[in-house]
Amino acid sequence: MTEEMYRTHNCNSLRRADIGKGVTLAGWVDVTRDHGGVIFIDLRDREGLTQVVFRPEENAAVAKQAHSLRNEDVIQVIGKVTARVPGTENPGLATGDIEVVPSELRVLNRAEDLPFQLDAEIHNEDLRLKYRYYDLRRPRLAHNLQMRHRAAKATRDYFDSQGYVEVETPILSKSTPEGARDFLVPSRLMPGKFYALPQAPQQYKQLLMVAGLEKYFQIAKCFRDEDLRADRQPEFTQIDIEASFVRPEDIFALTEGMLAAIFKAARNVDIKKPFDRLTYREAVGRYGSDKPDRRLGMELVDLSDEFRSSSFKVFRSAIDAGGVVKAINAKGFAGITIGQADELTEIAKTFGAKGLAFIKLENGEWKSPIVKFFSEAEKFALQSKLQIEEGDCIFFGADRWEIACEVLGRIRLRVAEMQDLIVRSRQGQPRPVAAATRTRPAASSDQGTPEWDFLWVTDFPLLQWSAEENKWNAMHHPFTRPKAEDLPLLETKRFPEIRAEAYDVVLNGVEIGGGSMRIHEPELQEKMFEVLGVSPQDQQLLFGHLLRALRLGAPPHGGIALGLDRLVMLICGEQSIRDVMAFPKNNRGMDLMSQSPAAVDPRQLRELAIKLAGDARGQSGKESPPKR
Ligand code: ASP
Repeated sequence: MTEEMYRTHNCNSLRRADIGKGVTLAGWVDVTRDHGGVIFIDLRDREGLTQVVFRPEENAAVAKQAHSLRNEDVIQVIGKVTARVPGTENPGLATGDIEVVPSELRVLNRAEDLPFQLDAEIHNEDLRLKYRYYDLRRPRLAHNLQMRHRAAKATRDYFDSQGYVEVETPILSKSTPEGARDFLVPSRLMPGKFYALPQAPQQYKQLLMVAGLEKYFQIAKCFRDEDLRADRQPEFTQIDIEASFVRPEDIFALTEGMLAAIFKAARNVDIKKPFDRLTYREAVGRYGSDKPDRRLGMELVDLSDEFRSSSFKVFRSAIDAGGVVKAINAKGFAGITIGQADELTEIAKTFGAKGLAFIKLENGEWKSPIVKFFSEAEKFALQSKLQIEEGDCIFFGADRWEIACEVLGRIRLRVAEMQDLIVRSRQGQPRPVAAATRTRPAASSDQGTPEWDFLWVTDFPLLQWSAEENKWNAMHHPFTRPKAEDLPLLETKRFPEIRAEAYDVVLNGVEIGGGSMRIHEPELQEKMFEVLGVSPQDQQLLFGHLLRALRLGAPPHGGIALGLDRLVMLICGEQSIRDVMAFPKNNRGMDLMSQSPAAVDPRQLRELAIKLAGDARGQSGKESPPKR
């Protein structure tokens, strides 16, 4: 005998045409309403809701049973589809024309005390994470997981159509100094030795190119032991790509095609291709950021020529010292409060400026203590270059190029928030406010910008000076190729000027991916390690496998990796990547649901030849009490 089915339909499928049918539904009690003895239940499954009505006059026993139901009980209902009483239809619900009148009700399981109501806005994120399996019943989060699946499926289908092969690379790998801190895994079989969890499959994918695979991709888990933020988790997912015999152009076209496929599958949106491109110098020079949100307008304008012989000493001396004078026009921000001005000045100082000069244009008058130092010609130049109008507020940066750009870039983002052009959530992701809800006019170039503003930023610097470590670090990673025309600068040690064949893809001010052409010549890779301060001995110890592989016919290759979590976050309109991950960690890297990380049995530690230091031992709940 076959067992009867749990359900004949899902909770989002019955329509007017089904009236009169006998059906079986199963799901969760979303809400119950008692209207003078008649019980209405919204039955929910992952597809939607169906109203179930228990009328005592139709079936007294079942109606009595329904009285005991509470939210989130799991039930099965066997009954008939009927038309709703005319006038009580719910046009907002796909199943709003009908209801189910049960002849039988089976309680499959009870939900005991609910930790919180699913339809309530719960701000206690720790509580939500503790009961993650319950919180995930919220339609919004359930929808996010489905979108994530759509995006991942579109990715796989796209790469398959392009001849790319998905290859899994090891999770137990080797610790190499590449940027972030590694998570380590002690080896039981080789006491005192450790695996590292991969920060990215970077070296493996390059080795697959040496292996002749030519076209690789992977939806890969990556692990970085970093301080956490809204857009960072200790483990996250990358769409990882590598190809042989390619130029940056090939990677750009491939990535654009992939993003188009993802947006089509997940949002049914046709994104604009090809994406615009800015070099790193252009992006930072015009927006004060290497991941500019161009939708905000407020571009940085260079005024160094205009103020080269100014009598305003602050500007002039910055230029004399080889620096620049730059400014942004915050349209309609002349009403800036003292509190806002103080906060912006603080930001400017944090990022290296001595202060923050600004001018407001109110009642036809330029208001600022610095205006008296400006000549008429300088004022005229300012007016026309920045298109200053009544109600505007101009902020200046006069410093080294890097500092002036960074400071104005930060001011630009904060002013946009203050003007409600973007809302930055508690967790820190920028979100544009719909134009209609803006309280003040946006900067002029903001108009007509697309909802999805994709952008390539190219030609990043190869190297970055670390004052803390007193050495040069790779801006991307040590395997990134210098631009061919800048190679001579490596010999002459003009490190700050060397550009890399490296690129980022940016969406709405968020970096969603980055990559580069790689070094495939062993001598150049060794040279690069040398510049980065890796001794020849350490080169062999840490990267011997890669250097040997490069000596065995490594093809020219390059690639990119995109953060799947961030991408899906933007597609879903969320502010935190936690909202698009099934089981995320909280901002202290803890899984509150399973209480991990957790202390382990001392026996396990002994097997691994690990002894905890005194303070860590104190925190371990499982250490044996001291012997007397
Ligand atoms: N592996 C790099 C990263 O994770 C991306 C790449 O260069 O392909 O940033």
